[in-house]
Amino acid sequence: EITLRGVWKRYPPSTVALRDADVDVNAGEALAIVGPSGSGKSTLLAMLGLLEAPDEGQRTIAGVDTAGASERELTRLRREHLAFVFQAFHLVDHLSARENVEHALAIRGVPSRLRRARAEQALDSVGLSHRLDARPPTLSGGERQRVAIARALAAQPRVLLCDEPTGNLDTATASAVLELLLAQAGSGLAVVIVTHDPGLAAKCSRALRVVDGQVGHAS
Ligand code: ATP
Ligand code: MG
Repeated sequence: EITLRGVWKRYPPSTVALRDADVDVNAGEALAIVGPSGSGKSTLLAMLGLLEAPDEGQRTIAGVDTAGASERELTRLRREHLAFVFQAFHLVDHLSARENVEHALAIRGVPSRLRRARAEQALDSVGLSHRLDARPPTLSGGERQRVAIARALAAQPRVLLCDEPTGNLDTATASAVLELLLAQAGSGLAVVIVTHDPGLAAKCSRALRVVDGQVGHAS
């Protein structure tokens, strides 16, 4: 689904955040990204997510080379193929869980008549069908992250990119949310998870380790 070939990313004046990275995200896989703090994991996710441009190297998504793409074209590619889950949930507090998901679908250009059913189905798939009308401040941390996951899934992406999705959650809640994310990987969806949890990496189909900007296989 996504390929990086010989990708470098530098942050001036002196940081080399990613060195000569070759990475494939394959259809339907669960891919873990592990490594020490500051090693370049989020930078790698930003490359895969078309959030930043490589300084060098080649990147494709669904077979399309992103090098010549305009900002508008990149946005279109992101909306068509990708969705994100971050450590901070980024929900709109004055909207209900269902409205948060519907709102994201509206931004993606999904026709209004389709939004409600898709939002309810996505919230059902993360176990929140009983909390459709709840606003984020009344939800637990784990429930909020489930709303954020439902919002991402409702977009029907090919790849779900997650940067430490459980960093704000206690251990038990975190592992339930991670299991839920892993369970989404399959025929239609690849899931990429940046995590500090070695146990989780072992449950993924593959794990990459980033050390000092260098991407390698995790044992
Ligand atoms: P963590 O586990 O703490 O989230 P990480 O592995 O995600 O770390 P990155 O955020 O990818 O690491 O950062 C890699 C390196 O690039 C670090 O040295 C960081 O300080 C630097 N860096 C990242 N983003 C920027 C930026 N926007 N401007 C300057 N330097 C940056
Ligand atoms: Mg990071």
